[in-house]
Amino acid sequence: MTSSSLNTGLTLIATPIGNMQDISLRAVRALSEADEVLCEDTRISRKLLSKHGIKTKLGLYHEHNAPAVRPKILKRLKDGRKIVLISDAGTPTISDPGYQLVNACIDSNIEVSTIPGPTALIAALSVSGLPTDKFYFGGFLPTKKNARRKSLASLQQLDATLVFYESPARLAASLEDAANYYSERPAAIARELTKLYEEVKRGTVLELSKLFSKTQPPKGEVVFLISPPFSLE
Ligand code: SAM
Repeated sequence: MTSSSLNTGLTLIATPIGNMQDISLRAVRALSEADEVLCEDTRISRKLLSKHGIKTKLGLYHEHNAPAVRPKILKRLKDGRKIVLISDAGTPTISDPGYQLVNACIDSNIEVSTIPGPTALIAALSVSGLPTDKFYFGGFLPTKKNARRKSLASLQQLDATLVFYESPARLAASLEDAANYYSERPAAIARELTKLYEEVKRGTVLELSKLFSKTQPPKGEVVFLISPPFSLE
């Protein structure tokens, strides 16, 4: 991709994780120049595009329609259309749809480019106060207790900060499970980053588990981080 225009092919563009101003100048220009923008929810993405005066046509690409629409998208890409993929928030394909579309493009020799920007896991890691030199991103922990415990137990020896996305409703249960294996490790819960009620709670896993077991599930979106077994300092 040149610095002045959008290439043909598929371009993945990161969008804000809360604050609508967290979008790059290049992203705004590319979204305006695209033939179409694929998104998960047109209501959410239209709001963002309108805020930046972008009128580009929106199409849907989400986990339910992906298998059906992917061949049609590939056809339009092969015909030379400039197509952008965004998600509701953050970087497309990161715990969001897009991986298979990227793969299909690579298989078909269609160029795939990125206009990078926000992603909650990096925003959370950077403010967590936990070691950032090595980290493991575990996506969402399993929702079923046994699977979640197994998954948490399997990561105990990893010499890296563990980063998970978590739903507020399951946070207390996940912290309780994590306390079985990581009780005294420093940890952090980063909530509503870049938004009005942004906050980071820090403490050991056990302390955070006790804190969140006593309260209503937190409002908004959270990232859960656990320190590696041995801190650098
Ligand atoms: N693609 C997105 C990214 O790049 O971060 C992630 C999408 S995933 C479906 C949504 C999860 O990301 C939320 O459940 C939460 O764990 C995390 N998340 C997104 N926005 C956040 C924010 N502003 N503050 C804290 N966590 C956030």
